[in-house]
Amino acid sequence: MQLLAWYDQNKRPLPWRLDQASLRDPYRTWISEVMLQQTLIPVVIPAYQRFLDKFPDVFTLSQATEDDLRPVVKGLGYYRRFGMLHKSAKIIAAASAPGKPLWPENQEGWKALPGIGEYTSAAISSIAFGIPVPVIDGNVERVLCRLADIRKAPNLPELKPQYRRMLTKMLGNPVATARPGDFNQAMMELGQRVCTPKNPDCDACPVSSECTSRKAKSQHLAPAPKIRPAYEEVRLQMIIGLRPGLDGTREVALFRRGSKSRFLKGSRGFWFSEAWDLPIGTQNVGAFRHSITKHKITADVQILEMKATTKKSCRISKWTKESPDWVPAGAVEDELISNLDVKAWRLVTRRFQL
Ligand code: SF4
Repeated sequence: MQLLAWYDQNKRPLPWRLDQASLRDPYRTWISEVMLQQTLIPVVIPAYQRFLDKFPDVFTLSQATEDDLRPVVKGLGYYRRFGMLHKSAKIIAAASAPGKPLWPENQEGWKALPGIGEYTSAAISSIAFGIPVPVIDGNVERVLCRLADIRKAPNLPELKPQYRRMLTKMLGNPVATARPGDFNQAMMELGQRVCTPKNPDCDACPVSSECTSRKAKSQHLAPAPKIRPAYEEVRLQMIIGLRPGLDGTREVALFRRGSKSRFLKGSRGFWFSEAWDLPIGTQNVGAFRHSITKHKITADVQILEMKATTKKSCRISKWTKESPDWVPAGAVEDELISNLDVKAWRLVTRRFQL
Protein backbone atom coordinates (compact mmCIF):
# COMPACT_ATOMS: atom_id res chain seq x y z
CA MET A 1 0.00 0.00 0.00
CA GLN A 2 1.53 3.29 -1.19
CA LEU A 3 0.11 5.24 1.72
CA LEU A 4 1.90 3.17 4.36
CA ALA A 5 5.15 3.17 2.38
CA TRP A 6 4.92 6.98 2.29
CA TYR A 7 4.18 7.08 6.02
CA ASP A 8 7.15 4.88 6.86
CA GLN A 9 9.45 7.27 5.05
CA ASN A 10 7.86 10.56 6.00
CA LYS A 11 6.21 10.29 9.40
CA ARG A 12 7.17 12.95 11.88
CA PRO A 13 9.39 11.70 14.70
CA LEU A 14 6.92 12.54 17.45
CA PRO A 15 7.85 11.39 20.98
CA TRP A 16 4.87 9.02 21.18
CA ARG A 17 6.08 7.38 17.97
CA LEU A 18 9.79 7.21 18.65
CA ASP A 19 10.03 3.52 19.19
CA GLN A 20 7.85 0.52 18.60
CA ALA A 21 7.41 0.02 22.34
CA SER A 22 5.89 3.43 22.84
CA LEU A 23 3.82 3.02 19.69
CA ARG A 24 1.94 0.13 21.14
CA ASP A 25 1.96 1.10 24.78
CA PRO A 26 -1.68 1.72 25.73
CA TYR A 27 -0.80 4.18 28.48
CA ARG A 28 1.41 6.36 26.29
CA THR A 29 -1.01 6.19 23.40
CA TRP A 30 -3.89 7.15 25.67
CA ILE A 31 -2.02 10.10 27.22
CA SER A 32 -0.87 11.43 23.86
CA GLU A 33 -4.35 11.12 22.32
CA VAL A 34 -5.99 12.95 25.20
CA MET A 35 -3.38 15.70 25.04
CA LEU A 36 -3.81 16.04 21.29
CA GLN A 37 -7.55 16.71 21.64
CA GLN A 38 -7.91 20.37 20.63
CA THR A 39 -4.22 21.10 21.23
CA LEU A 40 -1.47 21.61 18.66
CA ILE A 41 1.43 19.15 18.42
CA PRO A 42 4.21 21.66 19.36
CA VAL A 43 2.34 22.51 22.58
CA VAL A 44 1.75 18.83 23.40
CA ILE A 45 5.34 17.61 22.93
CA PRO A 46 6.92 19.14 26.08
CA ALA A 47 3.79 18.52 28.16
CA TYR A 48 3.73 14.86 27.12
CA GLN A 49 7.29 14.33 28.32
CA ARG A 50 6.60 16.25 31.54
CA PHE A 51 3.53 14.10 32.13
CA LEU A 52 5.35 10.80 31.63
CA ASP A 53 8.23 11.89 33.88
CA LYS A 54 5.77 12.64 36.66
CA PHE A 55 3.24 9.86 36.03
CA PRO A 56 5.04 7.01 34.26
CA ASP A 57 2.09 4.60 34.46
CA VAL A 58 -1.61 4.42 35.15
CA PHE A 59 -1.04 3.56 38.82
CA THR A 60 1.00 6.68 39.61
CA LEU A 61 -1.60 8.73 37.74
CA SER A 62 -4.45 7.12 39.68
CA GLN A 63 -2.78 8.10 42.97
CA ALA A 64 -2.01 11.68 41.96
CA THR A 65 -3.77 14.58 43.59
CA GLU A 66 -5.11 17.52 41.71
CA ASP A 67 -2.17 19.58 43.02
CA ASP A 68 0.21 17.07 41.43
CA LEU A 69 -1.63 17.18 38.12
CA ARG A 70 -2.15 20.93 37.76
CA PRO A 71 1.41 22.09 36.99
CA VAL A 72 1.95 19.20 34.60
CA VAL A 73 -0.99 20.00 32.31
CA LYS A 74 -0.85 23.75 32.68
CA GLY A 75 -0.98 25.61 29.37
CA LEU A 76 -2.77 22.87 27.43
CA GLY A 77 -6.32 24.26 27.75
CA TYR A 78 -9.59 22.28 27.95
CA TYR A 79 -8.77 21.10 31.45
CA ARG A 80 -11.87 19.04 31.98
CA ARG A 81 -10.27 16.33 29.89
CA PHE A 82 -7.54 15.90 32.49
CA GLY A 83 -10.05 15.59 35.30
CA MET A 84 -11.69 12.82 33.28
CA LEU A 85 -8.33 11.25 32.45
CA HIS A 86 -7.61 11.15 36.17
CA LYS A 87 -11.00 9.56 36.88
CA SER A 88 -10.39 6.99 34.16
CA ALA A 89 -6.98 6.16 35.64
CA LYS A 90 -8.65 5.46 38.98
CA ILE A 91 -11.22 3.20 37.29
CA ILE A 92 -8.54 1.25 35.42
CA ALA A 93 -6.26 0.98 38.46
CA ALA A 94 -9.15 -0.21 40.64
CA ALA A 95 -9.96 -2.98 38.15
CA SER A 96 -6.32 -4.08 37.78
CA ALA A 97 -4.03 -6.35 39.75
CA PRO A 98 -1.07 -4.44 41.32
CA GLY A 99 1.39 -3.44 38.62
CA LYS A 100 -0.63 -5.10 35.83
CA PRO A 101 -3.02 -2.65 34.20
CA LEU A 102 -6.19 -4.19 32.89
CA TRP A 103 -6.94 -2.11 29.79
CA PRO A 104 -10.31 -2.05 28.05
CA GLU A 105 -10.34 -4.78 25.44
CA ASN A 106 -12.03 -2.97 22.58
CA GLN A 107 -13.25 0.38 21.32
CA GLU A 108 -16.52 0.12 23.25
CA GLY A 109 -14.59 -0.51 26.47
CA TRP A 110 -12.52 2.64 25.94
CA LYS A 111 -15.61 4.63 25.07
CA ALA A 112 -17.13 3.66 28.41
CA LEU A 113 -14.39 5.61 30.25
CA PRO A 114 -15.01 9.25 31.18
CA GLY A 115 -14.05 11.73 28.46
CA ILE A 116 -13.30 9.16 25.73
CA GLY A 117 -15.40 9.58 22.61
CA GLU A 118 -15.56 8.04 19.17
CA TYR A 119 -12.36 9.58 17.88
CA THR A 120 -10.09 8.90 20.86
CA SER A 121 -11.39 5.38 21.41
CA ALA A 122 -10.78 4.52 17.74
CA ALA A 123 -7.29 6.04 17.83
CA ILE A 124 -6.25 4.13 20.97
CA SER A 125 -7.84 0.86 19.79
CA SER A 126 -6.10 0.96 16.44
CA ILE A 127 -2.70 2.35 17.52
CA ALA A 128 -2.20 0.48 20.78
CA PHE A 129 -4.19 -2.70 20.15
CA GLY A 130 -4.12 -3.10 16.37
CA ILE A 131 -7.92 -3.17 16.08
CA PRO A 132 -8.95 -2.17 12.55
CA VAL A 133 -11.35 0.67 13.32
CA PRO A 134 -11.26 3.89 11.33
CA VAL A 135 -10.27 7.21 12.87
CA ILE A 136 -11.95 10.27 11.40
CA ASP A 137 -10.67 13.77 12.10
CA GLY A 138 -10.82 16.96 10.05
CA ASN A 139 -7.72 16.04 8.07
CA VAL A 140 -9.05 12.60 7.18
CA GLU A 141 -12.39 14.12 6.14
CA ARG A 142 -10.62 16.44 3.71
CA VAL A 143 -8.57 13.63 2.15
CA LEU A 144 -11.69 11.48 1.73
CA CYS A 145 -13.65 14.34 0.22
CA ARG A 146 -10.94 14.80 -2.37
CA LEU A 147 -10.52 11.11 -3.08
CA ALA A 148 -14.26 10.89 -3.84
CA ASP A 149 -14.61 14.50 -5.09
CA ILE A 150 -17.23 15.34 -2.47
CA ARG A 151 -17.95 19.04 -2.90
CA LYS A 152 -19.91 19.49 0.30
CA ALA A 153 -19.00 20.83 3.75
CA PRO A 154 -16.81 18.04 5.17
CA ASN A 155 -18.35 18.20 8.64
CA LEU A 156 -21.91 17.50 7.51
CA PRO A 157 -23.16 14.64 9.74
CA GLU A 158 -24.74 12.97 6.68
CA LEU A 159 -21.23 12.32 5.30
CA LYS A 160 -20.04 10.30 8.30
CA PRO A 161 -21.44 6.94 7.08
CA GLN A 162 -19.79 7.50 3.71
CA TYR A 163 -16.43 8.27 5.34
CA ARG A 164 -16.78 5.16 7.46
CA ARG A 165 -17.54 2.99 4.41
CA MET A 166 -14.56 4.38 2.50
CA LEU A 167 -12.14 3.89 5.39
CA THR A 168 -13.44 0.42 6.21
CA LYS A 169 -12.85 -0.56 2.58
CA MET A 170 -9.32 0.87 2.68
CA LEU A 171 -8.65 -0.87 5.99
CA GLY A 172 -9.68 -4.11 4.29
CA ASN A 173 -6.44 -4.00 2.30
CA PRO A 174 -4.25 -6.70 3.93
CA VAL A 175 -1.33 -4.29 4.43
CA ALA A 176 -3.60 -1.82 6.23
CA THR A 177 -5.37 -4.57 8.19
CA ALA A 178 -2.00 -5.62 9.56
CA ARG A 179 -1.20 -2.04 10.65
CA PRO A 180 -4.46 -0.22 11.36
CA GLY A 181 -2.86 2.25 13.77
CA ASP A 182 -0.28 3.28 11.20
CA PHE A 183 -2.95 3.45 8.51
CA ASN A 184 -5.02 5.86 10.60
CA GLN A 185 -2.02 7.98 11.50
CA ALA A 186 -0.91 8.00 7.86
CA MET A 187 -4.30 9.33 6.73
CA MET A 188 -4.18 12.09 9.35
CA GLU A 189 -0.62 13.02 8.52
CA LEU A 190 -1.37 13.02 4.79
CA GLY A 191 -4.11 15.57 5.43
CA GLN A 192 -1.86 17.67 7.67
CA ARG A 193 1.15 17.76 5.40
CA VAL A 194 0.24 16.95 1.80
CA CYS A 195 -3.49 17.19 1.19
CA THR A 196 -3.65 20.58 2.87
CA PRO A 197 -6.73 22.83 2.68
CA LYS A 198 -5.07 25.16 0.19
CA ASN A 199 -2.61 24.08 -2.50
CA PRO A 200 -2.42 20.33 -1.83
CA ASP A 201 0.89 18.88 -3.00
CA CYS A 202 -0.63 16.30 -5.34
CA ASP A 203 2.70 15.49 -6.98
CA ALA A 204 4.00 14.20 -3.64
CA CYS A 205 0.79 12.39 -2.72
CA PRO A 206 0.91 8.60 -2.33
CA VAL A 207 -2.77 8.18 -3.21
CA SER A 208 -2.87 10.53 -6.20
CA SER A 209 -3.62 7.73 -8.67
CA GLU A 210 -6.89 7.06 -6.82
CA CYS A 211 -7.89 10.68 -6.35
CA THR A 212 -11.02 11.78 -8.19
CA SER A 213 -10.53 15.47 -7.41
CA ARG A 214 -7.09 15.41 -8.89
CA LYS A 215 -8.41 13.87 -12.09
CA ALA A 216 -11.18 16.44 -12.24
CA LYS A 217 -8.81 19.27 -11.17
CA SER A 218 -11.37 20.17 -8.54
CA GLN A 219 -9.18 20.11 -5.43
CA HIS A 220 -10.25 23.69 -4.67
CA LEU A 221 -13.92 22.67 -4.72
CA ALA A 222 -13.71 19.49 -2.69
CA PRO A 223 -14.55 19.80 0.09
CA ALA A 224 -16.69 22.96 0.31
CA PRO A 225 -16.01 25.28 3.30
CA LYS A 226 -16.83 23.82 6.71
CA ILE A 227 -20.03 24.72 8.47
CA ARG A 228 -18.89 26.81 11.43
CA PRO A 229 -20.84 26.84 14.69
CA ALA A 230 -22.54 30.11 15.49
CA TYR A 231 -20.48 31.95 18.09
CA GLU A 232 -22.17 33.20 21.21
CA GLU A 233 -21.09 36.43 22.86
CA VAL A 234 -20.93 36.18 26.67
CA ARG A 235 -20.17 38.92 29.20
CA LEU A 236 -18.67 37.78 32.48
CA GLN A 237 -17.95 39.67 35.66
CA MET A 238 -14.85 38.23 37.32
CA ILE A 239 -14.26 39.17 40.92
CA ILE A 240 -10.90 38.86 42.57
CA GLY A 241 -11.21 39.01 46.36
CA LEU A 242 -8.14 40.29 48.23
CA ARG A 243 -7.37 40.43 51.94
CA PRO A 244 -4.25 41.12 53.98
CA GLY A 245 -2.11 38.05 54.55
CA LEU A 246 -0.19 37.22 57.69
CA ASP A 247 3.16 38.64 56.58
CA GLY A 248 1.89 41.93 55.17
CA THR A 249 1.31 40.56 51.67
CA ARG A 250 -2.10 39.90 50.18
CA GLU A 251 -4.14 36.75 49.94
CA VAL A 252 -6.43 36.02 47.03
CA ALA A 253 -9.77 34.19 46.97
CA LEU A 254 -9.94 31.16 44.70
CA PHE A 255 -13.14 29.16 44.29
CA ARG A 256 -13.80 25.63 43.18
CA ARG A 257 -16.17 25.64 40.18
CA GLY A 258 -18.84 23.03 40.49
CA SER A 259 -20.57 20.87 37.92
CA LYS A 260 -23.17 23.58 37.33
CA SER A 261 -20.62 26.20 36.34
CA ARG A 262 -21.22 27.30 32.77
CA PHE A 263 -17.49 27.25 32.00
CA LEU A 264 -14.42 25.45 33.32
CA LYS A 265 -16.29 22.97 35.50
CA GLY A 266 -14.16 21.46 38.23
CA SER A 267 -11.37 24.03 37.92
CA ARG A 268 -10.22 26.41 40.63
CA GLY A 269 -10.11 30.10 39.91
CA PHE A 270 -11.74 33.47 40.40
CA TRP A 271 -15.42 33.92 40.95
CA PHE A 272 -17.32 34.76 37.78
CA SER A 273 -20.90 35.47 37.06
CA GLU A 274 -23.03 36.62 34.16
CA ALA A 275 -25.09 38.79 36.50
CA TRP A 276 -24.28 42.47 36.73
CA ASP A 277 -24.97 42.98 40.42
CA LEU A 278 -21.64 43.16 42.19
CA PRO A 279 -20.66 43.30 45.85
CA ILE A 280 -20.37 46.85 47.17
CA GLY A 281 -16.83 48.14 47.02
CA THR A 282 -15.62 46.38 43.87
CA GLN A 283 -13.17 48.29 41.76
CA ASN A 284 -13.03 47.77 37.99
CA VAL A 285 -9.59 46.85 36.69
CA GLY A 286 -10.35 46.44 33.00
CA ALA A 287 -11.63 43.89 30.51
CA PHE A 288 -10.22 41.28 28.17
CA ARG A 289 -11.48 38.91 25.49
CA HIS A 290 -11.24 35.17 25.63
CA SER A 291 -12.75 32.25 23.70
CA ILE A 292 -13.99 28.98 25.14
CA THR A 293 -15.27 26.58 22.47
CA LYS A 294 -18.05 28.51 20.67
CA HIS A 295 -18.27 31.24 23.30
CA LYS A 296 -16.62 34.59 22.77
CA ILE A 297 -16.22 36.03 26.22
CA THR A 298 -15.72 39.60 27.31
CA ALA A 299 -14.59 39.47 30.93
CA ASP A 300 -14.75 42.52 33.17
CA VAL A 301 -12.29 42.12 36.00
CA GLN A 302 -13.12 43.60 39.39
CA ILE A 303 -11.15 43.50 42.59
CA LEU A 304 -12.76 43.47 45.99
CA GLU A 305 -10.42 44.61 48.75
CA MET A 306 -11.29 43.39 52.22
CA LYS A 307 -9.90 43.93 55.66
CA ALA A 308 -8.48 40.98 57.57
CA THR A 309 -11.64 38.96 57.94
CA THR A 310 -12.95 35.87 59.53
CA LYS A 311 -14.95 33.52 57.33
CA LYS A 312 -18.23 34.76 58.73
CA SER A 313 -17.69 38.39 57.94
CA CYS A 314 -15.94 37.82 54.62
CA ARG A 315 -17.79 39.93 52.07
CA ILE A 316 -16.94 37.79 49.08
CA SER A 317 -18.19 34.63 50.81
CA LYS A 318 -21.39 36.35 51.81
CA TRP A 319 -21.98 37.46 48.28
CA THR A 320 -21.01 34.25 46.51
CA LYS A 321 -22.41 32.00 49.28
CA GLU A 322 -19.30 29.86 48.95
CA SER A 323 -16.08 29.76 50.92
CA PRO A 324 -12.95 30.43 48.93
CA ASP A 325 -9.46 29.10 49.50
CA TRP A 326 -7.16 31.98 50.40
CA VAL A 327 -3.89 31.75 48.52
CA PRO A 328 -0.86 34.08 48.92
CA ALA A 329 -0.74 36.50 45.98
CA GLY A 330 2.75 35.34 45.04
CA ALA A 331 1.52 31.76 44.59
CA VAL A 332 -1.69 32.48 42.69
CA GLU A 333 -0.37 32.01 39.19
CA ASP A 334 0.88 28.53 40.09
CA GLU A 335 -2.60 27.62 41.30
CA LEU A 336 -4.41 28.75 38.16
CA ILE A 337 -4.90 26.38 35.35
CA SER A 338 -7.28 28.03 32.90
CA ASN A 339 -6.19 30.77 30.56
CA LEU A 340 -9.30 32.74 31.51
CA ASP A 341 -8.05 33.05 35.10
CA VAL A 342 -4.45 33.65 34.09
CA LYS A 343 -5.50 36.54 31.83
CA ALA A 344 -7.60 38.07 34.60
CA TRP A 345 -4.77 37.75 37.11
CA ARG A 346 -2.22 39.30 34.76
CA LEU A 347 -4.53 42.22 34.16
CA VAL A 348 -4.62 42.83 37.91
CA THR A 349 -0.90 42.38 38.53
CA ARG A 350 -0.05 44.74 35.67
CA ARG A 351 -1.94 47.42 37.53
CA PHE A 352 -1.32 46.63 41.16
CA GLN A 353 1.68 45.50 43.12
CA LEU A 354 0.37 42.60 45.16
S1 SF4 B 1 -3.95 13.81 -5.03
FE1 SF4 B 1 -3.96 15.83 -4.17
S2 SF4 B 1 -6.08 16.25 -3.70
FE2 SF4 B 1 -5.90 14.06 -4.04
S3 SF4 B 1 -5.64 13.20 -1.99
FE3 SF4 B 1 -3.61 13.57 -2.85
S4 SF4 B 1 -3.01 15.61 -2.17
FE4 SF4 B 1 -5.21 15.39 -1.86
